[in-house]
Amino acid sequence: MFFGRRTNKNQHAEVAASGAERAVIWPLKTPDGERELPIVYSARKSSIALKVRKGEVVLEIPQRLTNGEIERLLGSRNDWLHKHYLRLAERLHEDEILWHSHGEFEFFGERQRFKVVDADSGTLKKKAVSVRREGDIWCLSCHASLSDCERKRLVQAWLEQYLRQALQLHLDARLSRFAQQIGVDFGKVEIKGYKGRWGSCRSSGDLQFNWRLAQAPEWVVDYVMVHELCHRIHANHSAAFWQLVERHFPHTRQAKQQLRLHGHRWIDLLQKT
Ligand SMILES: [Zn+2]
Repeated sequence: MFFGRRTNKNQHAEVAASGAERAVIWPLKTPDGERELPIVYSARKSSIALKVRKGEVVLEIPQRLTNGEIERLLGSRNDWLHKHYLRLAERLHEDEILWHSHGEFEFFGERQRFKVVDADSGTLKKKAVSVRREGDIWCLSCHASLSDCERKRLVQAWLEQYLRQALQLHLDARLSRFAQQIGVDFGKVEIKGYKGRWGSCRSSGDLQFNWRLAQAPEWVVDYVMVHELCHRIHANHSAAFWQLVERHFPHTRQAKQQLRLHGHRWIDLLQKT
């Protein structure tokens, strides 16, 4: 396995006393592929740690360790590293969202950026936000007299509305096709703001979906649709139910894994605590 130089950021590169070039990145294995973690050597440290430095997650490694020792040590602790990496990366991400000014959100698995600006004309109502695209950035204009707190509320309300509508469109486009494929019907479809679930299926056939699903990749949303529709046949989580889900959605295992890994981040968005 190769771990070593970062070609684009070689300012991290160091040469060890022995003359061997020190490794500067560690390829952390994640379910989505590899993630390059910058390595920072510390003469004072005696154990490995993950830290946030200058807005990114880095691996702090005792200076005395050789490349071979690092590789053995990190290789055997991948799960531990991954868990801690996710926790730090999330905190980092949350800290970066300044609702009144700029930030990012996820939209069907893709990062979208937004910025908040003063509206140039006085015609914009105080409680409105005017939205336009500027390249790949959402540009949200607010009345110039609004406080940061008022802007934050408006931007959050816009985002919730935007994700709700997007999920509705997504469901409208696909739910019937999945229902037909499974051979079931369904009643009313509602978009809800749940704290602890992605969807539900009532005995009446009405379906509910959590609007925060619009942050997840489309294929994960598909899984949730298939899951709820299969409850039209089995109103439980029996082996027969899971067999049916897997027959109609072969990537069930992967979708459940995505929800396990990222679901709490999606669920946490705009929760009023
Ligand atoms: Zn279920």
